[in-house]
Amino acid sequence: MALQPPKKKRRITYGDTVAVYVGAEKRLFTLHESVVLEHSKFFRAALTKGFKEGQSRLIHLPEIETPAFEAYIQWMYSHEIVINECESVEEASKTRKQYSELIELYVVGDRLENTNLRNEVMTALVQLQEQSDPNPGCKNVSRVYKETPESSPLRRFVLDSWLDADPDEAIPYMKYMRLKFPTEFIFDMALELFQGKTRPAVRPVDRPKCFYHEHNDETPACE
Ligand SMILES: [Zn+2]
Repeated sequence: MALQPPKKKRRITYGDTVAVYVGAEKRLFTLHESVVLEHSKFFRAALTKGFKEGQSRLIHLPEIETPAFEAYIQWMYSHEIVINECESVEEASKTRKQYSELIELYVVGDRLENTNLRNEVMTALVQLQEQSDPNPGCKNVSRVYKETPESSPLRRFVLDSWLDADPDEAIPYMKYMRLKFPTEFIFDMALELFQGKTRPAVRPVDRPKCFYHEHNDETPACE
């Protein structure tokens, strides 16, 4: 097999570090400043405006869950989204757990103002749905509606997933969980279903590649 040439990406510079305290338990992560600055507008603002030269750099992120932040660190250093393999549980709950991990990573991308990460998570969510049937369950829907703004592509994905669901499976589940779905989600579904009288639902996997992405001057459209 022919050897692949090394990838041409910017190499990490292992200079100054920054201390990040994460979650309610204030778990300490010591990270390379150049890496956190490259990937997050939030860190750029916090580390350039809030500190004087030579002052120790501490950031507190109490509202972020530690496992999601660990996934974020892995992504920053490896440019890869990694979700846990859990083989012992049945297929549907395994997929929902993987949805949950991706959603939590998206929420980190939202808090830390990282558009690239959000876009990559959206692609991973669509791929996950393509490989396995179940939709994001009620807990995942609730999390998305609690943690993201109205305009979020993640909300759009969740909505599309449910609009595309098999009614024989979706209706009993929705009836069973009816008091647990967020009101805003039920409202969004109702609006879509009214409009759906004149158009069919589009499956997330059939959408154009960038449909759930955010692109702007800093984050140009995918090739
Ligand atoms: Zn794109």
